[in-house]
Amino acid sequence: MTAPVALTWSHPARLLRLALLVALFCWVSIVLTRGDGRVAAIWLSNGLLLGLVLGAHSRHWGGMLAAGYVGNFVANFAAGDSLHLALLLSACNTLEILMAAWPLRRRFGPTLSLTTAPALLYFFGFALLLAPAVSAMLAAMLLAADGGASVLDVFTEWYPADAMGMLILAPLLLALKAQSDLPTQQSRLRGAWLPWLLLVSTTLLVFLQQGYPLLFLVFPPLLLLSYLRGMRGSVLGLATLTVIAVLATIEQHGPFMLINTGSMHIRVLLLQVFIAIAAAQGLVMGMLMAQRERLGLALQRSEQNMRTITDNLPALIAYIDADERYRFVNAHTRRVFGDDPSKLLGRTLREVRGDLVYADIGPRIAQALRGEASNFESHGMANGKAYHYQANYIPDVDSDGTVKGVYAMTFDITDRKTAELKQAADEERLRTITNNLPALIAYLDPQGVYRFCNQTHADWFGKPLEDWLGSDYRLVIDDAFADAQTPHLQAALKGRRIDTELTLVTLGTPRTLRASYLPHLAGDGRVLGVYLLMNDITSLKTVQAELHRLARHDVLTGLANRREFTDRLENTIARNRRLQGQHALMFLDIDHFKTINDVHGHATGDAVLCALADRLKASVRHIDTVARLAGDEFVVILDNLHNAEEPQFIAHKIIAAMEKPVLFEGRQISVTVSIGIAFDGLGRLGPDELLSLADTALYSAKAAGRNTYRLADNGSAVATVTLPNQFAA
Ligand code: GH3
Ligand code: MG
Repeated sequence: MTAPVALTWSHPARLLRLALLVALFCWVSIVLTRGDGRVAAIWLSNGLLLGLVLGAHSRHWGGMLAAGYVGNFVANFAAGDSLHLALLLSACNTLEILMAAWPLRRRFGPTLSLTTAPALLYFFGFALLLAPAVSAMLAAMLLAADGGASVLDVFTEWYPADAMGMLILAPLLLALKAQSDLPTQQSRLRGAWLPWLLLVSTTLLVFLQQGYPLLFLVFPPLLLLSYLRGMRGSVLGLATLTVIAVLATIEQHGPFMLINTGSMHIRVLLLQVFIAIAAAQGLVMGMLMAQRERLGLALQRSEQNMRTITDNLPALIAYIDADERYRFVNAHTRRVFGDDPSKLLGRTLREVRGDLVYADIGPRIAQALRGEASNFESHGMANGKAYHYQANYIPDVDSDGTVKGVYAMTFDITDRKTAELKQAADEERLRTITNNLPALIAYLDPQGVYRFCNQTHADWFGKPLEDWLGSDYRLVIDDAFADAQTPHLQAALKGRRIDTELTLVTLGTPRTLRASYLPHLAGDGRVLGVYLLMNDITSLKTVQAELHRLARHDVLTGLANRREFTDRLENTIARNRRLQGQHALMFLDIDHFKTINDVHGHATGDAVLCALADRLKASVRHIDTVARLAGDEFVVILDNLHNAEEPQFIAHKIIAAMEKPVLFEGRQISVTVSIGIAFDGLGRLGPDELLSLADTALYSAKAAGRNTYRLADNGSAVATVTLPNQFAA
């Protein structure tokens, strides 16, 4: 830190002015206070220089001390000292300033203030004791060598005079500088004129008479000035006292004239002792007052800081004493209560907040006054608007455990609360919707724990919602279903959307589910959880299966239709080619079916078709396929044959099965069929060839008089079958 005056001390004109000032001070000290002695009673120039040097940056000290040396020399030389004596005595004075200034600068830096006990101790030790003593000893030896003066005499004159000068001027200059460094702080010297006038008049009264030893009278006004105006008052008072006392004593006035020694030297010495006592009192009082002032300022500043902080917090902050009266409120109160905070002070909680609010917060304050802190949320009205608040009441407990009051901090949480209520309403709406959807909706966290599930979920599995929330899915659903889900959940947790179908039996009901696993992605791509959506598609599946069945079956008889037959025939041919198996195709047609329709009606015709279907199925193995192609035309695929005789046996069996008349609505209808057979033992024939051969064989059977069968001759190995006569080809 650089003292503001320091910059100017590098200016030569200013240094010249300093030299002149020092010369003037020396000259005044010599002329006015030398009296009858060899040495001045008070030496002001060293105090002046010390005060200035302590207020300046140390890099300017060289110039300042040199200017001081020149001023000192000029004054000494002008006052009649010989050239070499003037040079040497000036050197003693310069050394004295350096010895006083250097330790103070090292210990306290450029911001030295004599208002603390350590600084005052250093000042007394170096500036008042050591430095003047050393310079006095050097000067005494010089003067003794020069003119035979007594070393003791010179020392006892020089030392107190220099110490006096230091004591009066150095603190005064430092105090004035501190004041000019703090231009905003109001001057403590302003308004000090009344106690100062009291001191001046008392001092004049004491020193302009010589009848009574009234020295003690100057102490009360000096202490009063120190008490009222602190360190600056004390320095001003001491300077005033010293000037009047020294001038009066030198001019042979004042109480010291009562001492009847006739030696002015002794009187001046006693005068110096008197001033030193006054200075010690004044400076100690000044320091105490400065300390008190500093503490007061610190307290004021910390109070100011606290108020600045609390006033700028968006919270209502108050201190309520044990009688429930407001002792402190911050500015935010105005925004809530629309009132000047200072008008709240001293009023009770009930008066300020009203009976209604008091009923709410009164018991909480009482609880805090019993020593228990309390935090709660509540709501009220202010300026016609509803608001929510969070209050914290903290007891102010004394060191002995007594509760002196309560610190109350109340935060306006209306915005947060409104948002919370809105969110709750939104959530409730969403929950109502999801609970009434016929779909299972859930949300699982990365650990597989249910964080949300809708009512449908609970209903399907017959477990209440509480059982699901917070539970691991592996623990709340059965193992089989959990295992089926695990790979999909794991994939979704890696960020993939999965759509799949699952089957599940819940509460005895088999269900087919369409399940979607949707990853919940954070902004940075992390997966926060998985949304689960499952639709029950069981009935859809049933309808799908029925449609599928209908597309491939004959509606009237329930047999496979042409489409299904074509597929199965192709499959049979392909398989038998691969496995070198044998198969045959039978083509059947009801004989004179038109007549049955015509005679008995269409419904009877339908019944005949159904009866034939049943008897056909009963006549073949389950591996064989019976199909209705159209009208009264049926086909049978006979698989896994060993020779051409087998289909002929079956044809025979079918014809025999039709011997029994069909019963419909009390009537007996005789029905016969004709059958054409195509046998493929080598796997050479395609579906169309096989069908065409069978058709041709059927035609032959019809031509042969009906109610019989014929085997197509297609070159395959055909064994002769021995059949009953009426069926013989
Ligand atoms: P043929 O011995 O030569 O076979 O003589 P047919 O009278 O049986 O003659 P055809 O096989 O050509 O006659 C088929 C008849 O079947 C024709 C049609 O009126 C009848 N029909 C076709 N579909 C149905 C049906 O779904 N229900 C009934 N009741 N009759 C049908
Ligand atoms: Mg027919």
